[in-house]
Amino acid sequence: MTDAPRKLEWRTATISAIATLTPRIRSFMLSAPGGFSFRAGQHVDVRLTAPDGYTAQRSYSIASAPGPGDAIELMIEKMRDGEVSPFFHDVADVGDEIEVRGPIGGYFIWPEGQAQEATGPVVLVAGGSGLAPLISMVRHRALSGPRIPMALLFSVRTPEDVICADELATLQEARDGFELALAVTRGAAWRPGDFSRRIDADMAADVLARLPAAPVRAYVCGSNPFVEAAASALLASGLAADVIRTERYGG
Ligand SMILES: Cc1cc2nc3c(=O)[nH]c(=O)nc-3n(C[C@H](O)[C@H](O)[C@H](O)COP(=O)(O)OP(=O)(O)OC[C@H]3O[C@@H](n4cnc5c(N)ncnc54)[C@H](O)[C@@H]3O)c2cc1C
Repeated sequence: MTDAPRKLEWRTATISAIATLTPRIRSFMLSAPGGFSFRAGQHVDVRLTAPDGYTAQRSYSIASAPGPGDAIELMIEKMRDGEVSPFFHDVADVGDEIEVRGPIGGYFIWPEGQAQEATGPVVLVAGGSGLAPLISMVRHRALSGPRIPMALLFSVRTPEDVICADELATLQEARDGFELALAVTRGAAWRPGDFSRRIDADMAADVLARLPAAPVRAYVCGSNPFVEAAASALLASGLAADVIRTERYGG
């Protein structure tokens, strides 16, 4: 990808596929000539322009794994009364062109540069659409090996809100060091080993104990209140503050 565009230039991408992931979250594949050279955890900015010239710009994490190919996947949750996410859900169609820039972000990425951070156990904590950058990390691990121990604690309201349930369950069934735990906040636990409550310190400790050693890095992503609660739970379970990286979506 030597001739890839400079990072922060706006360019035109085409929506090449749309899929419904959950009642509130859809997947949008964006393709652009030259592709997107990115690292797991990064995001792009998208810009919409109305006929009168009004523009709206938002950030969306890249959910696909880094690698060859000219498309990236975004997972967009429809926010009630929002400007941009309802456009994607209600108006955007396959073949439409969208302005995009990026990838962006050098902090919330995995693996990092240093040897220990690239090979030590990792814990991921996602709330709803906050799964997007974390599933990029999960997919990257699955495709690239070696099988670094990784645990994903994914909080959803109901089992039907689990994004990519089959994909995640299949990865766990491979028993190669990927652990999945679901925290269902409005319903019964989905499977044995899952939880039916909001994330708390006991739950965080339970999930950390599924790793062979303490994580060298924790990545937490979701709405502001979710990130506050999940990071507090990790701290209360004994994780050091400098291990934890957060990405906040708003709200
Ligand atoms: C780095 C980064 C990555 C992001 N990645 C994603 C992603 O992968 N998928 C995704 O769906 N969104 C993501 N977001 C959020 C996204 O940028 C928009 O904020 C979101 O789509 C709402 O935009 P909107 O125009 O529809 O609503 P707006 O018109 O901006 O406002 C709607 C209201 O919803 C609030 N809000 C925004 N996001 C959330 C949330 N997650 N939970 C609760 N309230 C919220 C806003 O603060 C505002 O009050 C990301 C944000 C950042 C900063």
